[in-house]
Amino acid sequence: MDYGIAGRKAIVCAASKGLGRACAMALAREGVDVVITARTAATLEQTAEEIRRATGGTVTAVAGDITTEAGRAAALAACPNPDILVNNAGGPPPGDFRNWEREDWIKAVDANMLTPIFLIKAVIDGMCARGFGRIVNITSGSVKSPIPQLGMSNGARAGLTGFCAGLARQVAKHNVTINALLPGPFLTDRLRGTAAAAAAASGRSVEDEIAERARHTPSGRVGDPDEFGAACAFLCAASSGFIVGQNLLLDGGAFNSTMG
Ligand code: NAD
Repeated sequence: MDYGIAGRKAIVCAASKGLGRACAMALAREGVDVVITARTAATLEQTAEEIRRATGGTVTAVAGDITTEAGRAAALAACPNPDILVNNAGGPPPGDFRNWEREDWIKAVDANMLTPIFLIKAVIDGMCARGFGRIVNITSGSVKSPIPQLGMSNGARAGLTGFCAGLARQVAKHNVTINALLPGPFLTDRLRGTAAAAAAASGRSVEDEIAERARHTPSGRVGDPDEFGAACAFLCAASSGFIVGQNLLLDGGAFNSTMG
């Protein structure tokens, strides 16, 4: 299927690895020119080259911390008028909220709520004026189904979700959509890291910890980042303009409900 977005321009944040990388790859496959960001220049350039080789697409690597003003400014300087914005950043650490101080919360809210909001603020009026925009926020299944040890993720991402639910309905008439993708367990470095931490605590192997997560999904496996990228490209399609303010859960059926 032709998604009708060849030649469009995208910023994909936090995309040297994992889900962001998969989104950039899927968009490049559709002929979108992508600007990718991450903090480490060498790793990011390597990813950019891999995406160029795999897709023949135009990929620009912009190193910087997207949770800082300077990082956002660098991404926007490379692509001042994006048609597509994929918001992403690292997730907050796990823990007990009794141990979190104001500074910890500010970091989480900065990374997972305010960073996407400020990027949206920078690009949305241009999208509306041009009559096309696709914004995809990578959040988490924790928005729908809170994970006890990830209280800062549950909270900060829910804040972003609430804000975007309102804004999405203000801009939809301009063919600008804001939707979110909510990952369950996907096999990325983040998942390998949390599995390694769990393995250290339980005495089991990392593979056993990953298999344990797989057992908790009706699909019987963890997700492949390419599947996540494909969903992102679909939400960015020209024909997806009537999908507004949705939160699409990709968790292999782990969230148990009749609908929604
Ligand atoms: P990952 O660790 O595999 O990749 C994260 C990417 O973000 C890397 O490229 C890293 O360099 C980049 N990055 C991190 N912080 C950054 C910053 N401040 N500025 C620029 N780049 C930055 O992680 P992932 O699994 O792809 O997760 C992406 C997001 O999805 C995270 O917020 C994570 O919490 C969330 N999530 C992931 C899963 C999962 O199973 N993988 C599940 C739920 C939620």
